[in-house]
Amino acid sequence: MDFSAYRGILIVVEQRAGTAKNVSWQLLGEAQRLAQKLDAPLMALVIGHEVEPLAREAIERGADRVYLCDAKELKDYRTRPYSRVCLHVIEQAKPEIVLMGATYTGRDLAGAIATHLPTGLTADCTQLDVDENRLLLASRPAFSEKMLATILCKQYKPQMATARAGVFMALPRDPSRSGEIVRISPQMNPDEIATEVLDFLREMGRVNLEDAEVIVAGGRGLGGPAPFALLKDLADALGGVVGASRVAVEAGWIDHDHQVGQTGTTVRPKLYIAVGISGAVQHLVGMQHSDVIVAINKDPDAPIFRVANFGIVGDLFEIVPALTKTVIAR
Ligand code: FAD
Repeated sequence: MDFSAYRGILIVVEQRAGTAKNVSWQLLGEAQRLAQKLDAPLMALVIGHEVEPLAREAIERGADRVYLCDAKELKDYRTRPYSRVCLHVIEQAKPEIVLMGATYTGRDLAGAIATHLPTGLTADCTQLDVDENRLLLASRPAFSEKMLATILCKQYKPQMATARAGVFMALPRDPSRSGEIVRISPQMNPDEIATEVLDFLREMGRVNLEDAEVIVAGGRGLGGPAPFALLKDLADALGGVVGASRVAVEAGWIDHDHQVGQTGTTVRPKLYIAVGISGAVQHLVGMQHSDVIVAINKDPDAPIFRVANFGIVGDLFEIVPALTKTVIAR
């Protein structure tokens, strides 16, 4: 097959109720670097209802051209109608690379698209690059996260990958950037769409670490499940969520959804407070790009202090309640 017309990178922006997932902007930031190396356009695709502000935001965050499919029947994500729009845009825009977040939705959508195209899909990447032959070097942890495998799709276009949240950096919004918005019609009639989302029930117990601006994470130093209530109080006072080290998760003190690190979630909050966490490398890779890191540990030599912007040496059972009290009093 001749793929010579394929050029540029397409980011599929994921949104719910008009708010984009941070991973989409992080991918756009990383893709701008790749597009510069390829000397190729950076494109974004926004699908939903009343999502035009997101198309504008995509331009401000690095896209040269945004495909916008705005329709009432596309308000909520469903595989078939969304993948139809993506396939249509891929056919029209002919990107050499298509990227989206490795979220529940991104994994579903990317798989659905890849099965309709003569191409492969590298899922859950933590590094992306391009080589001199315009090949996407999509790297992801393999063999129980002991190795980083770089996977290439040599013969087909577009090259497709999903990438983890928190590993790349979003560009700040630049309102002076200009770009083109191309409107796309939904590729299905409303009566062809077999399912309708009536409502979203609250997801019980699931924590959204990926998009949290503040995370208060606890480790073995907590000594059991009960002290996580102290962390929750502090997280609530700061408008954040609770994270955990793998030791705390494996001990059954808290659910796996809360795990930060190599085999958990990679996070990039504005504030990360590590409580009773030593700072093992597998934990650090998941949180070291947080804007501000505060470590609370009774061991002054704990490695976590090497990445912390602020360190408090002392007993967490005294420090955490005192911090919460101070935050609430402000
Ligand atoms: P510890 O290393 O035991 O540290 C506990 C800390 O608490 C100590 O520094 C201690 O000084 C402090 N402390 C104790 N009592 C108090 C107190 N009262 N007040 C203040 N401080 C106190 N780990 C992850 O977190 N995430 C991962 O995704 C992950 N993936 C892994 C993948 C692989 C393949 C492997 C091999 C390991 C992985 N690990 C991961 C495990 C990692 O190597 C460490 O074992 C783990 O991070 C340590 O957890 P911790 O810091 O809670 O415990």
